[in-house]
Amino acid sequence: MAKVAVLLVLLLATLTGWYVEARIVREGRDIQRDFPQEPSKVQVPIKINEDKFTSTTPTVEDEPITSSNNEEQKNLDINKNEDDDSLFQPEGRVLYTGSQLWKTVVDSEEKAKILAKLRDEEDITMWGGNVSAVDILVKRDSIGKVRSLLNNQNIRFDVAISDLQQAIEEENPTLEEEDFDNRNGHRLTWQAYHRLDDIHKYLDFLEEQHPDLVSQQTIGQSVNGNPIRLLKISNKQPGNKAVWIDGGIHAREWITPATVTFIINQLISNWENEPKYVQNTDWYFAPLLNPDGYEYTHTVDRLWRKNRRGSGRCAGIDLNRNFGYRWGGTGASKNPCAETYGGSGPFSEPETAAVQSFMSNANAKWKAYISFHSYGQYILYPWGYNRVVPPDYKDLELVGQRAAQAIRNAGGPSYTVGPAGNTLYPAAGGSDDWAKGAMKIKYAYTVELRDNGRYGFVLPASYIQPTAKEAMAAVRVIVEAASKA
Ligand SMILES: [Zn+2]
Repeated sequence: MAKVAVLLVLLLATLTGWYVEARIVREGRDIQRDFPQEPSKVQVPIKINEDKFTSTTPTVEDEPITSSNNEEQKNLDINKNEDDDSLFQPEGRVLYTGSQLWKTVVDSEEKAKILAKLRDEEDITMWGGNVSAVDILVKRDSIGKVRSLLNNQNIRFDVAISDLQQAIEEENPTLEEEDFDNRNGHRLTWQAYHRLDDIHKYLDFLEEQHPDLVSQQTIGQSVNGNPIRLLKISNKQPGNKAVWIDGGIHAREWITPATVTFIINQLISNWENEPKYVQNTDWYFAPLLNPDGYEYTHTVDRLWRKNRRGSGRCAGIDLNRNFGYRWGGTGASKNPCAETYGGSGPFSEPETAAVQSFMSNANAKWKAYISFHSYGQYILYPWGYNRVVPPDYKDLELVGQRAAQAIRNAGGPSYTVGPAGNTLYPAAGGSDDWAKGAMKIKYAYTVELRDNGRYGFVLPASYIQPTAKEAMAAVRVIVEAASKA
């Protein structure tokens, strides 16, 4: 009897193993397809950027984890210890204890393939990088394996973050309630990353304080029913050109809603002294286009990227692959579990559909579209769907270069300028392509904010103000160009 039971258990374990392996292989293939196999013959250096890259971060299951998938539990870095407040949350928090961020030097296709293999074997996930450096998240239990492989293959690496969970816990100071006293009616500090509610209440506050200048509307509801807010700043002159600025398309890029609200604050605080091209522009701001994902990064998984359609490991759509211009092409995954899954069709998601509906129906003279992302310090323009450029690309390049110069003049770091598909590699369904291709907005940019991979997505809150100030300098350049377009 006991023998039969043991045999049954063994059989079950084997079958489970096969299933897990098969699943990994399937995902691996799909990821492979998204990986730039041939960095074109014109020797485009290998550049990897989170927005164009497929990877899978550990995600938490909705189902309680049973003893039968212990291995998976380890991989997911789920840790429900007693003094963790995740006990009081419907879903456990995803913890990255012991996982590390490494900067690797990848100067050959061969080396890139080694990293791709490690990714497919789920030892690492890809974060981003630039010409010669690729940032990888090395999972705790794979550190030894990855280290010896990289050493053997002469791939140089530096450990940028030795414990990701610790970095996550340190990036955002918890503000005491007293810190919010005497703040003139709102809670935003730009010294910490704030929750959705603080951001929305700040927009309400501005509308109330500046009724002649500021108006607000809800342009749609997210999958989970959060409002998608739009704030307009306008002196209501009939000839005004219109610019759109958004943030928070990708949930984990916390610096982007912080930057957009900072820009709003700067404009309103200084409105009377602003030059004519600023005052005679209709400014449309959507600081947080993925409110569900953003809240999820605060409560469950700090590194969540997509929206929150569905549940479990394969939840979510990559909203920056869901826009309806050349939707579904290269660089957008068909695999729902992938981080770059583009959805079931163009604008299948309420968050992107809200943008499309509002911008297409608004009676606005759109001349600029700026979407903030992180990280990597890039000023990118269309096209993203392929290694091609629009006929007027020289105008976009010139204005992009001026914006990068303005950032340097403001004391900021170097930002790389170029067409997205060439500078990184093709990724279809991005918002900037749609703005340029479908909406015919001349100056369409995706700006990847700081940093360069020291902290990556986990950028400490002390960087909010310097980053937002340099972003403001870039915005001024683009909007001035838009005012003449
Ligand atoms: Zn992004």
